[in-house]
Amino acid sequence: MAESSATGGRRGKTKETETMEEMMDRLDLTEKERTKLVVDDEEDQREDELHALIGKVLHRKVLHVNTIGEALRPAWGNPRELNFRPLGENVFVASFMKKRDSDLIFDGGPWMVGKHCVVLERFNIRPRPSELKFEKIKIWVRVINLPFNLLCPPWPKRIAAMVGEVITLNADDKGFAFGDCLRIRAWIRVDEPLMRWVQLEKARTKETEFFDIQYENLPYFCFSCGLLGHGELLCPTLAGRDEYGRPPYREALRKRQNEESESSGSIDDSRDSKKKKEDEKAAKSVAEAVQQPHGSQ
Ligand SMILES: [Zn+2]
Repeated sequence: MAESSATGGRRGKTKETETMEEMMDRLDLTEKERTKLVVDDEEDQREDELHALIGKVLHRKVLHVNTIGEALRPAWGNPRELNFRPLGENVFVASFMKKRDSDLIFDGGPWMVGKHCVVLERFNIRPRPSELKFEKIKIWVRVINLPFNLLCPPWPKRIAAMVGEVITLNADDKGFAFGDCLRIRAWIRVDEPLMRWVQLEKARTKETEFFDIQYENLPYFCFSCGLLGHGELLCPTLAGRDEYGRPPYREALRKRQNEESESSGSIDDSRDSKKKKEDEKAAKSVAEAVQQPHGSQ
């Protein structure tokens, strides 16, 4: 890195230089502002050394970074030298000593702080914090009660593609997905309502059928608009109820793993179940300590 003057060393095309000079004139820069720092834009090496993730907690209240860290650390298996730093309202950087740890966490989840969704992005040194989007999470989605003929290729893949950006699909080598549901690991958008059904139409009879969707470890969501991050009572687009007094989105979207434990995400399915249970227990106790907002759940 070296310092240079804005007036020294013409580079690039003449037209661009002129435009830049015109801009400089217009800005009427002071002597101090005229001095610029030349930065190295080949910093990929540094990115390799930084094993970090950027996260955002979808919570209407601003949480302290320590609260976020206390909830996530046990759920993440307390990896060595895990550090949390604040980066804005409910936005944080989590840095890890080993790439393997950050990869495991990025591939796992969905992660939660007191049931509130944490949206993760891989740390990348180029974007500005304001450019981060936090628009999608990885989650296991189930399409339930499909007839056997729709669990045979090519249908599992095609149905999965309707749900989200597919990461993986529970099917055998030949594409058969027999089981109690069609289970898909997918990216789903957090700025769109949860999808409740897939709609399939029979080509010959034109008969339409709806198949329920369930999500594993689904974070806090709004029963009124189907978005993550707020409850029905605070919904900006409050919807009506049906003739039975039911909201448009329901608890049934959440697949319960078992009655006693509410997981805060999983690193992967192959993980030792005892360890997973311990993490869940620890995460649950922290989650309970985090104050819940008023909402529909
Ligand atoms: Zn809502």
